Amino acid sequence: MEGICHDFGNLRAVDRVTLDVQPGEVVCLLGPSGCGKSTLLRIAASLEELQQGRVFINGEDMRSASGRLVPPEQRNVGLMFQDSALFPHLSVLDNVSFGLGRLAGAERRKRALELLETLGMAAYADRYPHMLSGGQQQRVALARALAPGPGLMLLDEPFSALDARLRDRIRDDTLHLLKKAGAGTLLVTHDPEEAMFMADRIALMKDGRVLQMDRPVDLYCRPKDPFVATFFGEVN
Ligand code: ADP
Ligand code: MG
Repeated sequence: MEGICHDFGNLRAVDRVTLDVQPGEVVCLLGPSGCGKSTLLRIAASLEELQQGRVFINGEDMRSASGRLVPPEQRNVGLMFQDSALFPHLSVLDNVSFGLGRLAGAERRKRALELLETLGMAAYADRYPHMLSGGQQQRVALARALAPGPGLMLLDEPFSALDARLRDRIRDDTLHLLKKAGAGTLLVTHDPEEAMFMADRIALMKDGRVLQMDRPVDLYCRPKDPFVATFFGEVN
């Protein structure tokens, strides 16, 4: 993303943000509530209009020369949000194979089962979402987002609805799976500890701006701004 700005009326929600995510890398957008994290993620996903700046995915400009924006379903991105609901009327297996329309039936089933297996959810393939715990639903949502093999995963506070004990485990599993899938990941969180654990690099945001983008250890040991220092100081 290059030079992204986004206004809601008089409010500048995103202010001149430039950042990159490399294949296989997890980048966390970290910062207090209201600093513009979700807006930035939604712009990457094309769920929010692109007012100013440029978005490239796999090197391709998401705004064509004619000015048309590449729509979400053509962006090769996987999306998962805190409240990303599963389709209640579809089984777990069908939820996961939903995004695999271009594959033949047997191939789809195989791929979806493989993913469920990796997440320890294969035994639940024929159940329906309401029969699962919150953590299990979260795993299925992750499998669904990963199923099409997206080049870029966009995750917005994916663990915040989970209780603390479950959260640690699912974080662990998710990180493992993201690394295995090899996709680049942009993950939004307001939790410094989560960012420290998940991220290869962290973009720390405040008031719509990225104050510093660095490896966790560098943010912690070499903060370039008092706000950065304080933000991580609060972890201890
Ligand atoms: P974060 O995800 O970091 O909590 P958001 O990106 O959701 O922050 O919001 C950034 C700012 O933009 C906030 O001040 C929020 O109130 C405002 N905002 C977000 N979405 C809208 C909207 N659809 N209309 C008006 N203001 C919005
Ligand atoms: Mg948000």
